[in-house]
Amino acid sequence: MQSQGDKPRGDSRVDLRTAAMQVVRSLTEAGNIAYFAGGCVRDRLMGLEPTDYDIATDARPDAVGKLFRKSQHVGESFGVMLVSSMGHQIQVAAFRTEGVYSDGRHPDTVAYSDARHDAQRRDFTINGLFENPLTGELIDFVGGQADLKAKLIRAIGDPHARLREDRLRMLRAVRFSARFGFAIDAATSEAIRAGADDLPGVSPERIGQEVKQMLSDRNRAVAAMELQTLGLDQAVLREPHQAAAPNRLGRLPPDVAYPTALAAWLLDRHEDADADVTARARRWSAALLLSNADQTAMSRCLDVYETLLRGSWPQLRVAKQKRLAAGGEFDEALLLLQATDPQAWVRIRREVSVLAESDLAPPALIGGHDLIALGLPRGPLFKRVLDAVYDAQLEGTVREKAAALALAKTISLTAEGGSPDT
Ligand code: ATP
Ligand code: MG
Repeated sequence: MQSQGDKPRGDSRVDLRTAAMQVVRSLTEAGNIAYFAGGCVRDRLMGLEPTDYDIATDARPDAVGKLFRKSQHVGESFGVMLVSSMGHQIQVAAFRTEGVYSDGRHPDTVAYSDARHDAQRRDFTINGLFENPLTGELIDFVGGQADLKAKLIRAIGDPHARLREDRLRMLRAVRFSARFGFAIDAATSEAIRAGADDLPGVSPERIGQEVKQMLSDRNRAVAAMELQTLGLDQAVLREPHQAAAPNRLGRLPPDVAYPTALAAWLLDRHEDADADVTARARRWSAALLLSNADQTAMSRCLDVYETLLRGSWPQLRVAKQKRLAAGGEFDEALLLLQATDPQAWVRIRREVSVLAESDLAPPALIGGHDLIALGLPRGPLFKRVLDAVYDAQLEGTVREKAAALALAKTISLTAEGGSPDT
């Protein structure tokens, strides 16, 4: 039996840093250079708790493998080992330098090198810092500290060349800029604008992952704005450029679910388009390679929202309203409504709380076994009868099992008599 709380949890953040430091210590004691690298150094300098620690070293993977009993190669990454330390997995990467990129995403060649070259192959100056955690020394070959102070996202080296090498960096620039509230340096912005149309070289899967991270962050509206102003929205979403203000997106709660954020952005971008929202949602799903779950949630959220805002909600019977309110994505659709039309949101919320006084989704008074006991043959009629009886229960016209059974009998007799094919 597992019990929570009596053991330190393996994923505690403080432990993670200690575990990573232990790896640096072992490497250093064995005579190697080993540093914390990239995002974890940046985050700490910004006063944020890193979610993962990457270590860069002059030790080769084989040496790392010998030093740490529990370690393994990361299959697809050059020179990267996964080391297990104090219950955490830490990535240990050999300093490396990269050759030309001819596919717009991956280097043709990679070679072992030193810390300076390893810093230079990284994307942005704020991501190019090293730290020796044993001494507290910062190793900055790329001006990362100055750009952190200036709150700037700046490509390391020639921005045109660096963004052409790996086009995903255009989206990373937007993501970091929005997340940290940093500006993108002028030359880097210029290079993004110039290369924006080449983004389709990146797989929808990777584009989708970046967009998911952007829209899952509380500064999602800033990211959306930047994608649009930098001209990246067409390539990301595979639809014409839009300059729409991401109003709904900006009004969502900070931790809103990704599909809801997508739905909000879709509505923002197509404010007065009467074209089919469903069709657009389908195109976005393909452009971002959404999971089935995300795709379903986004579409359902949009459907319910449409019903609430301009659809048939006021004319629906109580049973229908209750089914909708108790169904999936209703709360998410309410978030969209709140961000669109606060007055309509207040009204519908009031209506729903009145409905909820008589239970939105009570347990059904009767089930299939009751119909069998009544002597009804199994078949399509079953569901129709149960649905109709449950509707009556939701409406409050049927309150007890006996009444429910009586209604089931009446409905099944009428249905059998009235339908020629049963
Ligand atoms: P996050 O907090 O999103 O994880 P991060 O900076 O740690 O931010 P990772 O994707 O985890 O980002 O990458 C770790 C480091 O590897 C980066 O800080 C950067 O130095 C380098 N890096 C990652 N992706 C690229 C890329 N596409 N091009 C160049 N360097 C990259
Ligand atoms: Mg990281």
